[in-house]
Amino acid sequence: MKERDIKDLIKSQDNFLEHSTEHTIEKRISILKTLKSTIKSHEQEIVDAIYKDFQKPEFEVLTTELFVVYKELNIFIKNLKKWSKPKSVSSAWLNFPSSDKIYYVPWGKVLVIAPWNYPFQLAITPLIGAIACGNTVVLKPSEHAPHTADILEKIISDVFEQKQAKVIQGAVDTAKNLLNQKWDYVFFTGSVPVGRIVSQQIAKHMTPHTLELGGKNPCIIDSSANLDIAAKRICWGKFLNAGQTCIAPDYLMIDENIKTKFVEKLISTLKEFYKDEAYGDYARMIHADHFEKLVGFLDDQAVIYGGEHNAKTNFLAPTLVDSPEFSSDLMKEEIFGPILPIYGYSTFDELKSTIKAFDKPLSLYVFSEQDQFIKKVNQNFDFGGGVINDTIVHFVNDKLPFGGVGASGVGNYHGKASFYTFTRQKPLVHRKNWLDIPIKYPPYTKVSSFKSFLNLFR
Ligand code: NAD
Repeated sequence: MKERDIKDLIKSQDNFLEHSTEHTIEKRISILKTLKSTIKSHEQEIVDAIYKDFQKPEFEVLTTELFVVYKELNIFIKNLKKWSKPKSVSSAWLNFPSSDKIYYVPWGKVLVIAPWNYPFQLAITPLIGAIACGNTVVLKPSEHAPHTADILEKIISDVFEQKQAKVIQGAVDTAKNLLNQKWDYVFFTGSVPVGRIVSQQIAKHMTPHTLELGGKNPCIIDSSANLDIAAKRICWGKFLNAGQTCIAPDYLMIDENIKTKFVEKLISTLKEFYKDEAYGDYARMIHADHFEKLVGFLDDQAVIYGGEHNAKTNFLAPTLVDSPEFSSDLMKEEIFGPILPIYGYSTFDELKSTIKAFDKPLSLYVFSEQDQFIKKVNQNFDFGGGVINDTIVHFVNDKLPFGGVGASGVGNYHGKASFYTFTRQKPLVHRKNWLDIPIKYPPYTKVSSFKSFLNLFR
């Protein structure tokens, strides 16, 4: 889209927002219902598009893309009216008499930039929250999932006039052009390095924002863990979407005494999960560059299982690697693919110093039956969100805010957290005129009375 067309679009969204009082909550709920039925009528096309983009299995599309989106739509359709009601709060003594309220108002024009790894869900979920809260949206999907971007564009243009929501397709230049404009809110999901660039670009307008980023998510297994269950839940969370999940375990830290036994369990679980030799229940790497980067990560590594790959199909098998050097390429950045490094630890201090050498992660997982150990992990580490005795499932509870901390992100969303993300809390104090206590006005003759009053707070 040309710069001039972007500016015209922004102007039309500004006009739409000018008449925001016409865009009642009822109308917003109604358009969310239309969005839901339109998605429903295009389900098969969505499944096909994501398959074309990276052979994501239909079951994974239904569970990790469509289910999540329907749930978010349902929660907003059900709760928007209730959540949007202005909230009365008790007033300050000093303002007596007054009645004080918080109004939940839209930010205005929201720019959503989405990644390719859950190409439908990570584009639509923020859009749902933004639209529900009365904002307009410009959505830029990832250029690396072009089939999904096409169906996203079709659905959004079927449901919305562009003055309310519009998909703009394109790559980095398009994203940069969009970021050059003045937005009221930017919602970015993507990698840490690009998150840094985005944050610098929007700083010039001091635009409020959410950054949903990534990082190296540790997964800790102590000697008391139920190893059979842990093996299944770790293999599922790691190799779903072929490891291309922001909250997938990045590396395992396991009590040295049970490491060998646990590795055997991981291997037998993988053999059971992927018995189909064609790997039909397993996605492919999104593109050749990503495939090559991941295969390159395996150079000179101690691969204990997997490692098979095929450049023609961007296929890389689920792979386990024993204790790679922390200075290796594999461990320098987020892996974001089906390679799982496994380290043994002997003491809690060793565990702590290893994990703390990385930035605060988006997620942390701990498998243990010992409450004391779990408590210690929770007290010693900071992370965006975590799970005890499973991986990635915190994502599905819409009552939990989802987001990172430090380098893994800024802000959060999902369910009510999305409502707070896409509205601004606007306070309004309504003073009454039937009483006007004169103490605050000059000349200041009541210093000693106020000192007595202050005693109540001292
Ligand atoms: P990416 O950062 O390469 O791209 C994300 C989006 O940013 C794309 O739409 C892309 O076109 C755009 N972009 C790329 N370069 C840009 C630039 N210089 N300026 C402005 N925009 C630019 O990320 P990706 O490869 O699509 O996705 C993978 C990353 O996203 C991983 O790091 C993963 O952890 C993270 N992620 C985070 C979450 C989360 O919810 N926290 C979810 C999914 C993925």
